Amino acid sequence: MEITKIIIPTPYDVGDVNAFLVKGEALSIFDVGTKTPTAYEALVHGIKNAGYQLSDIEQVILTHHHPDHAGWIEAFPNARILGHEYIDYWMNKEELLSYRDDFYELQLKKQAVPEEYIQKIIQIRRRMDLYGNTPLTQFIKDRDEIPGHPGLIAYYTPGHAQSHFIFYNQKSKEVIGGDLLLEKIASNPLIEPPVDLSFDRPKSLIQYHESLKFLTSLDITKLYSGHGNDIVDVKELVDVRIQKDLLRTNQVYEILHEPKTVYEVTKELYPNANDYQLGLTLSKTQGYLDLLVKNERIRCEQVGEYELYSRL
Ligand SMILES: [Zn+2]
Ligand SMILES: [Zn+2]
Repeated sequence: MEITKIIIPTPYDVGDVNAFLVKGEALSIFDVGTKTPTAYEALVHGIKNAGYQLSDIEQVILTHHHPDHAGWIEAFPNARILGHEYIDYWMNKEELLSYRDDFYELQLKKQAVPEEYIQKIIQIRRRMDLYGNTPLTQFIKDRDEIPGHPGLIAYYTPGHAQSHFIFYNQKSKEVIGGDLLLEKIASNPLIEPPVDLSFDRPKSLIQYHESLKFLTSLDITKLYSGHGNDIVDVKELVDVRIQKDLLRTNQVYEILHEPKTVYEVTKELYPNANDYQLGLTLSKTQGYLDLLVKNERIRCEQVGEYELYSRL
């Protein structure tokens, strides 16, 4: 695959994000950075170094909807924009804002998060200014071949994001991996509204582990990661990530020597996390609890507005 990596700064803790320029029958860019002026400069610079201009790009292809990946979709005047249908919900559907607020409020109440934090977390989630707002040109579905790139197949890999795809080149066996697997840090199995826009919470960590297992079923020479370096030993790293989650899951089981809410478990599991990190740590804890329920080690019961987890 003729591929050029463009490193783009983000305002987030995760640091830089990677975009990938791929020359096939079409000239495509996979992910486009956060919608900030410095990210725009990095994009222009990277594309120029590869011998092109923004107007030469024919397709913008998105691994998922998070703003560090899908911010600058409108920077390319001649490009078609491809990604999961879910991305459109975040880009241009103002009316969905109140659904999303209601979804998060319901989940946070179930987790027994105190009211003062619920509003804070919803405010953080609502920060839409770093998102693009152009509708997609074409929706990608699981196992679609990417136009202009024969043999490049999209695989739906939810967990970190409900819109997440990886792109596998059947010939070179390279993968553009988005945030499915990162070299230095674990991807967070974020709690997000489901693709069908109901109020049933997707079990993100369980989805994420299934996506990782799928990744290891592919024959891969190199994975181009959304953050940090390329990954060669995919199976080894997947193993490390899953083992770490199982360790954490056992820790959560220990914490549940008496029935607790998600919020209570989170406070014990992440004693040093600040308020800003609460949304992320709640997602992780929820994931470990979902795994324990799935493995029939604990149960979850609804008590009034919240859920209580206890050992079986
Ligand atoms: Zn992401
Ligand atoms: Zn990311």
